[in-house]
Amino acid sequence: MSSSELARAAALLRAADGLLIGAGAGIGVDSGLPDFRGDHGFWRAYPPLAALGIRFVEIANPRNFDSHPELAWGFYGHRLALYRATVPHAGFAILRNIGERLKHGAFVFTSNVDGQFQRAGFGDDRLVECHGSIHHLQCTRPCSDAIWPADAVAPLVDPCIDPATCLMTPPLPRCPHCGALARPNILMFGDSRWLDARTEAQYARLEHWRAQVGNLVVIELGAGTDVPSVRHMCEAQGVPLVRINPREPAVRPGRGVGVAMGALEALVTLRALLD
Ligand SMILES: [Zn+2]
Repeated sequence: MSSSELARAAALLRAADGLLIGAGAGIGVDSGLPDFRGDHGFWRAYPPLAALGIRFVEIANPRNFDSHPELAWGFYGHRLALYRATVPHAGFAILRNIGERLKHGAFVFTSNVDGQFQRAGFGDDRLVECHGSIHHLQCTRPCSDAIWPADAVAPLVDPCIDPATCLMTPPLPRCPHCGALARPNILMFGDSRWLDARTEAQYARLEHWRAQVGNLVVIELGAGTDVPSVRHMCEAQGVPLVRINPREPAVRPGRGVGVAMGALEALVTLRALLD
């Protein structure tokens, strides 16, 4: 069943002159990244937080930087080190290759904060990180609109996290302007202090690119319904949509193709059909 749908997807791509790639958390599973879906998925990845009964929505929360800064930075510092060490699976290169065949190339819209598209060779000017990036920091207060790279901060060049407690060993990252604690430039739960200037500039570049594309096709990968921002963006384009999702592949009739497969398997098959 999926192969005939991928054949339809290949036909859509042959007729396209631009590709929008919408990516949710599911795209990273094939790279070995943990799946945070459900408390148990999250706690499998963070046993010390399971022992404390702390859920994802509670740890991914800006209040922790005030109340438990070593734990907040233990969680984000661990993720930063994990994402730096992760090699994006071959599906990312396939997406880049598909984009390179098209006159206007590809643009990425991702809810992931992990920087995996950049690691796979996508340009910084060709992507929207709608929830921000763990590779960038801001002030917790914040004292200014400044956003700076995490690898410019000494303790984050090689963060030291105790795996038994998920606590980061001080010193913790500081704002270079006022000395207050720094935090990732990520949109967290209940977050009124996230600075969105970097992401807004990315949206502006997407809009500029989108205006040049005459025949856009969207490939959406691993974007679930519980974090709907990627699905909304992909559907709002009003163009043919290829939805690759092993659990929730349904596409509204006449709007595109749903492929019930994981990202890597689907992309390997799709590339073979395009050759
Ligand atoms: Zn500051």
